Amino acid sequence: MARQMDYQTIREVFSRFQASEPAPKGELHHTNAYTLLVAVALSAQATDAGVNKATRPLFETVDTPQKMLELGEAGLTEAIRTIGLFRQKARNVIRMSKILVDEYDGQVPSSRAALQALPGVGRKTANVVLNIWFHHPAQAVDTHIFRVGNRTGIAAGKDVLAVERAIEDNVPVEFQQHAHHWLILHGRYICTSRKPKCAACIIRDLCPYEEKST
Ligand code: SF4
Repeated sequence: MARQMDYQTIREVFSRFQASEPAPKGELHHTNAYTLLVAVALSAQATDAGVNKATRPLFETVDTPQKMLELGEAGLTEAIRTIGLFRQKARNVIRMSKILVDEYDGQVPSSRAALQALPGVGRKTANVVLNIWFHHPAQAVDTHIFRVGNRTGIAAGKDVLAVERAIEDNVPVEFQQHAHHWLILHGRYICTSRKPKCAACIIRDLCPYEEKST
């Protein structure tokens, strides 16, 4: 775990991320708040590309909690069977959809507590929805952000909550909204788990990682 990066260096890191990708977007297909929530819940321990393959056809006809209840658990299970843990995820999405219909008028609530109270929705899923849909600067720490944060010292922490806090505490506020996406994309495509692409990295000169690749 690298030492927490200093303020000026973090400013420079995010200035470069911003210059290279001013408006980064998530890669999970969705058409509204509800389909985003479902897509993020389905993406646990699965790739975005794998989830998109199943949800693109699904969301063409099923894009509200009511329509999901009409599809039913068996129909949803069949539609997402290429995604890991599909039976459990289908059960949770149906239970979640029933609560949205019964308690929220079919709308997706916009507080972390209300989101996290839904079946199959953890803090990370709630933070992704808050960030992408509600434009709240919530930091959803996934495996990529955890690795990049600790490898570079941009957000050092021993667990995901500590890294989430480190981003909130250390990243200048004007970069908070997009920090989540910049760090994910950096981790997914450049600062990869094995053999990070340091030669192509735009923050190489700022990064203290001792095992940079050439
Ligand atoms: S220089 Fe290498 S280790 Fe450092 S952030 Fe870039 S890709 Fe990651």
